Amino acid sequence: MIKEFNKVALSFHAHPDDAEAWNAGVLKLLKDKGYKIVIATLTAGQMGGCDMSAEETALIREAEARKAAAVLDAEYYCLGATDGYLFDGEEIRKKATSLIRKVKAGIIFTHLANDYHPDHRAAEHRGISSYNCFS
Ligand SMILES: [Zn+2]
Repeated sequence: MIKEFNKVALSFHAHPDDAEAWNAGVLKLLKDKGYKIVIATLTAGQMGGCDMSAEETALIREAEARKAAAVLDAEYYCLGATDGYLFDGEEIRKKATSLIRKVKAGIIFTHLANDYHPDHRAAEHRGISSYNCFS
């Protein structure tokens, strides 16, 4: 039996701004080809600020991610893990697998397995593992 390909592209990254930095161009091209675009970050990027609290930083970065997603008319999800402490575990595994099942992604873009940042490597592992659970 041939499985029908779902024209849904999921950008699955650790932090707000990762999708914009690494695959926004290809997401735009896919959008123009009729794909539904979904952007997910595992964290709200709360460790990415210098002179404000983690909570304030998370609010700003998540709002920026939502605005960036809106440019592509994409859905945006933040899975709520803690920036800087992204590890595989039961809660994030369930959330990632649930999201991938919900959006029925045909394509997933994520980090490289040998990325410099430990959160990126964890996101890659979680994304690929959850996708394999789904497909
Ligand atoms: Zn990042």
